[in-house]
Amino acid sequence: MNTVTNLPGSPQVAYRGDVLMLEDCAVADLAARFGTPLYAYSQSAMLAALSAYQRALAGRDHLICYAVKANSNLAVLQTFARAGCGFDIVSAGELARVLAAGAAPSKVVFSGVGKTRAEMQQALDVGVMCFNVESEAELETLSAVAVQAGRTAQISLRVNPDVDAKTHPYISTGLKGNKFGIAHERAVAVYARAARLPGIEIVGIDCHIGSQITEIDPYLDALDRMLDLVEAIEATGVTLHHLDLGGGLGITYADEQPPSAGELIGALLQRIDARGHAHRQLMFEPGRSLVGNAGVLVTEVLYLKPSDDADGKHFCIVDAAMNDMARPAMYEAWMGIVPCRLRDGPPVTYDVVGPVCESGDWLGRDRALAVQQGDHLALLSAGAYGMSMASNYNTRGRAAEVMVSGDQAGLIRERESPTELFRGEHLLP
Ligand SMILES: *Cc1c(COP(=O)(O)O)cnc(C)c1O
Repeated sequence: MNTVTNLPGSPQVAYRGDVLMLEDCAVADLAARFGTPLYAYSQSAMLAALSAYQRALAGRDHLICYAVKANSNLAVLQTFARAGCGFDIVSAGELARVLAAGAAPSKVVFSGVGKTRAEMQQALDVGVMCFNVESEAELETLSAVAVQAGRTAQISLRVNPDVDAKTHPYISTGLKGNKFGIAHERAVAVYARAARLPGIEIVGIDCHIGSQITEIDPYLDALDRMLDLVEAIEATGVTLHHLDLGGGLGITYADEQPPSAGELIGALLQRIDARGHAHRQLMFEPGRSLVGNAGVLVTEVLYLKPSDDADGKHFCIVDAAMNDMARPAMYEAWMGIVPCRLRDGPPVTYDVVGPVCESGDWLGRDRALAVQQGDHLALLSAGAYGMSMASNYNTRGRAAEVMVSGDQAGLIRERESPTELFRGEHLLP
């Protein structure tokens, strides 16, 4: 019985018979070899996700900038850099990472509402392609920093188009009440101000309306509002070279059916062309949709804790926790949890929880699983906002990470040891 059973998400993660595979590696073998908790990624799933964007934009002047915060491992960044991808960064730390991974600064855009002067200075020194400026105060500061450094900062203004991305409030960013971007109504005036600032060169305009977006309509609404603005701004004599539509495309965790990158971009291009903007350079900043479905978080079942009450909770206690994967605790996100080897026997409904001392430390609730102590489970679609949001809460070292390609698996991050965790702390004299 070597039939292949696909799971939601990427075709690189599937059962072959009873065995959960990541490409041609048995996930349980990865757990035995590298230990748990373990993040494992499929390189071909990442490259396939990128090439869907690249194909949709072929023949157009475009740049795809992977949003580093989704998964910032150097080997992940290197994989994308080698495939011609640019990067969207939000800190000097992420700038250092992309440079260490071999990225060309001319393909880096710098986003974020709270860039410090030091961060601006570093980004100017290496020559990033564009600062996505999020407030008037930031614009003034950037101009001053650039003048002092004898440089010119290329900028786009991140405009808040005030559209509802219809996603979780914590990951919705394009509505009026959000901290992100410059209000739509202020944009023309702020561009006029930017055009007069000495350290600033205007190169484009951008927006980013949210994350885990599963419909095309919010993007089309945002695009229409952005093109209205582009026309109003260019009517004042300011030229905008590129149009950056941000990231945010959703992935399948359970039964969501987001458009493919091809469908989304096809619809956007049609609208862009219909409105006479076909000549414009287009940029996208996908994060989750490039890496989310490419990764699993592998964990070992430490203990089963059944309830005596007929209607009580049964707990499956695993060695991964909210410090390894924050999404369930933080957004009540639902993530698939499956055994690395299927067992016969009736499933029991468990809450799958970690060892951290918080009731919010759960990975999945009410999951029917046939498992025993010592088995391995995999959290699916864990490649985005998993390891990059991991913490050391409870003085837990962060997980190891491996990259899989075919039947090969390579360690791309070592497991943190306890002494590393308090390196830099000092006892009192
Ligand atoms: C987080 C972020 C992205 C990526 O969002 P995804 O939902 O992961 O695609 C893109 N642009 C900006 C400015 C961001 O903050």
